[in-house]
Amino acid sequence: MELHKENLSDEVLKLYEETIKNLDSERLHVIMEKPRIGNATAQYIHDGKGNFKIYITPESYSDYIFSHELLHVYITANGILPILTSFDKNADETSKSLAILLNDIIQHKWIMNEQRRRNILGEKNFLNLSLLI
Ligand SMILES: [Zn+2]
Repeated sequence: MELHKENLSDEVLKLYEETIKNLDSERLHVIMEKPRIGNATAQYIHDGKGNFKIYITPESYSDYIFSHELLHVYITANGILPILTSFDKNADETSKSLAILLNDIIQHKWIMNEQRRRNILGEKNFLNLSLLI
């Protein structure tokens, strides 16, 4: 199933257009299916070459969830936040795990602030939805 843009709120449509503006629209695919990996409700996948996929479980769709995944793409596509790959080439597993954890915390903090700033609401529902990545 494809995304129906006419169903998006104005705020989310604006975010969607801003996200694909700097991204060839061919490079973002929104797939209304449960993510194939793990138990997440929604997930974004970046192949490292500028191609993004967002998977969303249709029964769980909300503008809040979609905008969350879109903002992950937005951050990556625009290099908004530094991405820690690891602390060092020879980093041990602990350092690598810490880098992953820190990226996750930094991105989610930024995303939630940005959703508030853009008036995309639904944070309370979101907090009840575990496993959004
Ligand atoms: Zn996330």
